[in-house]
Amino acid sequence: MFASFTFARIPADYEDLRATARRLAKEAVADRPMDVCARSWSGYDAEFSRKLGAAGLLGLTLPKEYGGGGMGPFARFVVVEELLAAGAPVAAHWIADRQSAPLILNFGTEAQRHAYIPAICRGESLFAIGMSEPGSGSDLASVRTRAERRGDGWRLNGQKIWTSGAMHADRMIALVRTSGSAEDRHRGLSQVIVDLHAPGVTVRPIKDLAGDAHFAEVFFDDVALPSDALVGEEGQGWQQVTAELAFERSGPERIYSSVVLLDGWLAHLRSTGRADAATTALVGGMIARLATLRAMSIACTALLEAGESPVVEASIVKDLGTAFEQDLPLAIADNLASHRDEPVSDELRRTLEYVTLVAPSFSLRGGAREILRGIIARGLGLR
Ligand SMILES: Cc1cc2nc3c(=O)[nH]c(=O)nc-3n(C[C@H](O)[C@H](O)[C@H](O)COP(=O)(O)OP(=O)(O)OC[C@H]3O[C@@H](n4cnc5c(N)ncnc54)[C@H](O)[C@@H]3O)c2cc1C
Repeated sequence: MFASFTFARIPADYEDLRATARRLAKEAVADRPMDVCARSWSGYDAEFSRKLGAAGLLGLTLPKEYGGGGMGPFARFVVVEELLAAGAPVAAHWIADRQSAPLILNFGTEAQRHAYIPAICRGESLFAIGMSEPGSGSDLASVRTRAERRGDGWRLNGQKIWTSGAMHADRMIALVRTSGSAEDRHRGLSQVIVDLHAPGVTVRPIKDLAGDAHFAEVFFDDVALPSDALVGEEGQGWQQVTAELAFERSGPERIYSSVVLLDGWLAHLRSTGRADAATTALVGGMIARLATLRAMSIACTALLEAGESPVVEASIVKDLGTAFEQDLPLAIADNLASHRDEPVSDELRRTLEYVTLVAPSFSLRGGAREILRGIIARGLGLR
């Protein structure tokens, strides 16, 4: 398993793409304070997403015939890295670009590909992921939301929770039960595309610890779905969702959630000129971890580029990456607290407070830490 973490280089061909992404990201954050930039993942800015689409920076790995860039996973790595490093607002296109479009490409019909993917590549069509339900998070196979065949189409009843961006999204790809009961587990699950503006859909935003409402509860009360709402084969939802989660866990996004704070703290240290032994050792250790994680994430991308599915490797990067992202605010708070007389800007304080409050969620979203460790154990043949 460890042999697959082979040192790889990002091809030089992508440097132009990096320069464009860096320029657009810089423009987008020019007037934003640091604590707003730290909200990069949940920062909703539909105009910025359309700008990225117009510059050809969305749907990079999707075929050109559907409006994509026809490039490989390294292209997406470079762009995502630049956007997150700058703290640019990525929420409006994030899910559609990362998960929904590749899912529709892999499992959808030709008509669905043409209907949805070009608008996603333009940054004009916003999607949400409907997996989690109350009581069905880590135990995803126990979902109860049900779509029943009625006439030509389907009727949808149930509830999803923690749905990122549901209040802005046009559509959700939901994991639902199309036959059997929750006790049937993986059998009888399917994925359907739901119009979130349809009658019978209610979206109720939920506030997180920092007071931001970037996710929501979504209720379905006898929602009518057309016959072509089904994505892929009926009953194959579990296999499809597993493939979808592999897209979610393998990107550079699992190491950069606290990077705006790290940059802000480094700028603070430079401005104070403080270089005590404990601080320099802390900075060196943090940067060594980040550089190693980045090399591991690039190794995962090289496996994707080679057509492999690095499920275990991506789980290792997410486990270590989120631990790094969570350690940063604690270490920075301790360091600042041990120099109490030093003036600290309000902007840095607010950023530290925000990242400290949301850090526990880093190892929950996209699959909880314990679940990833179970996947790693399975990779070792232990389960
Ligand atoms: C910011 C954020 C955004 C999210 N966005 C979305 C979204 O867009 N769409 C969506 O569908 N979901 C979303 N989620 C939900 C996320 O996928 C779930 O929170 C996650 O899967 C965990 O499920 P849960 O919250 O029900 O916790 P639980 O599954 O109840 O887990 C609680 C704790 O118990 C541990 N645990 C659970 N089972 C085991 C086990 N078998 N062995 C050992 N430990 C275990 C977990 O690791 C965790 O620490 C989001 C979550 C967050 C925090």
